[in-house]
Amino acid sequence: MDVLSHPWLANGTTSFVDTIGAYVTPAAAKTAAELYANVDVTQLNFLEKAWMNWYLYWGNPIIATGIASWLLHEIVYFGRAIPWIIIDSMPSMRKYKIQDDRVATPKQQWEATKHVLLTHMTIEVPQITSFHPLCEYFGLATWQVPFPSITTMLWQIGAFFVFEDMFHYWAHRLLHWGPFYKNIHKKHHEFSAPFGLAAEYAHPAEIIILGMGTIGGPFALCAVTGNMHILTVYIWITLRLFQAIDAHSGYDLPISMHNWIPFWAGADHHDHHHMAFVGCYATSFRWWDHFMGTDASYKRTRARQAEEKAAAKAKGLEWPLKPPTKSATGRALEAKDK
Ligand SMILES: [Zn+2]
Ligand SMILES: [Zn+2]
Repeated sequence: MDVLSHPWLANGTTSFVDTIGAYVTPAAAKTAAELYANVDVTQLNFLEKAWMNWYLYWGNPIIATGIASWLLHEIVYFGRAIPWIIIDSMPSMRKYKIQDDRVATPKQQWEATKHVLLTHMTIEVPQITSFHPLCEYFGLATWQVPFPSITTMLWQIGAFFVFEDMFHYWAHRLLHWGPFYKNIHKKHHEFSAPFGLAAEYAHPAEIIILGMGTIGGPFALCAVTGNMHILTVYIWITLRLFQAIDAHSGYDLPISMHNWIPFWAGADHHDHHHMAFVGCYATSFRWWDHFMGTDASYKRTRARQAEEKAAAKAKGLEWPLKPPTKSATGRALEAKDK
């Protein structure tokens, strides 16, 4: 049974095109319906039907993909930043803060939000509207259903993580080179104690350069294999946004991924980059910095902190220690040393 004659779609009205025509222009509905002319709707699962309806609703694949991409970015970015804003307002979570005396102020959070929203409304609009034509050019499936298998999605997303991490490591190192740093990357380093919302607080050129690492992997892999669905790319972008926002959160929680996956970079790694302005250039993994020796300062800092922690523990003092001038614990430690 083809899509045009299925009762679920025809819904008792004169024709499928009329049903959809209530939402979009008849001409657009006809074009959209033609896309699915050979699809057997009875074989689709709930999500695949919803996906098809989204494209049928808009009647124009370029608009449907553009709006979906933009919404995904906004919902995931700000949605993921909210828990970190709440955590920043909780004194009980302060013990997990990596730079423990440097919590983002509401003013800083608002500054970052304004800047990020402005870039999302300006430079990202042409990027997103050109996304569908680019997908078509590289042969990515967009409106098509059914979806690829879970196994296909998993190995492709794994490959995107590895590629993006490598791309980001080298592009980020380049952005730390004098003129590039001064004119482009300095913006992102305005916050030396980062917070979730600061993940995309960056110069427009940086967003485009580093964005190539996120989207370049899917396009390159699709050009080689000819087998890729935009849904796989959306899941990857969601995970990549989670990674970026969590890495800027400023918190190393017991449940943070790097505490159970030792080669995962996480906030512990990237926070040091913001604090020290050098080293720890990669995004997701630790291997590039480890093998290139660019994590030496990070390793020294963490080793020193571990020693201090052990010393404090031996003296029965709580951790983290505050600077002696600021906290009773610090003064107590100083007094014991005398
Ligand atoms: Zn940097
Ligand atoms: Zn950063």
